[in-house]
Amino acid sequence: MSLRVKALESLLVEKGLVDPAALDALVDTYENKVGPRNGARVVARAWSDPAYKARLLANAPEAIAELGYRPEQGEHMMVLENTPQVHNMVVCTLCSCYPWPVLGLPPVWYKSAPYRSRAVIDPRGVLREFGLELPDEVEVRVWDSTAELRYLVLPERPAGTEGMSEEELADLVSRDAMVGVAKAGVGVAKL
Ligand code: FE
Repeated sequence: MSLRVKALESLLVEKGLVDPAALDALVDTYENKVGPRNGARVVARAWSDPAYKARLLANAPEAIAELGYRPEQGEHMMVLENTPQVHNMVVCTLCSCYPWPVLGLPPVWYKSAPYRSRAVIDPRGVLREFGLELPDEVEVRVWDSTAELRYLVLPERPAGTEGMSEEELADLVSRDAMVGVAKAGVGVAKL
């Protein structure tokens, strides 16, 4: 794959169709500027500041822009709040629509046909495979992303995190928790 990308890139540059500087800027954006750390900071702010959380749930793109994240591919975003009664998970059954400004580019499994079909047919089974077993009384809501509307899950704030700073809280929020296939919590893998 990387060889194919290289070949394609040199051909496009050679023919003058793309500027290598533009490619470098794009790579820098997705390696350093957008990614799940952004989303984790949004979640940590929402956990710490009820007024921010209200703004985030009412108008996600505006509230996310407050933290300085650019809206490309996230112009229309909705934040879904997990509660003890409701667990939200996100899929794009058609392709791989994903909230880039807050999560970066989607992981391979998010784009895979099995996830896209099975998240809808058997969400609890899929969550179990991610290691998340939900009690029967918790309602699972599956949201189908589109290019027009993308979703970010606001996970539940873990118990015992009172008094933590926003930065410490952000470390508890994984990409998977913001797609809704995991919970936020102590011991999550670093992003
Ligand atoms: Fe899509």
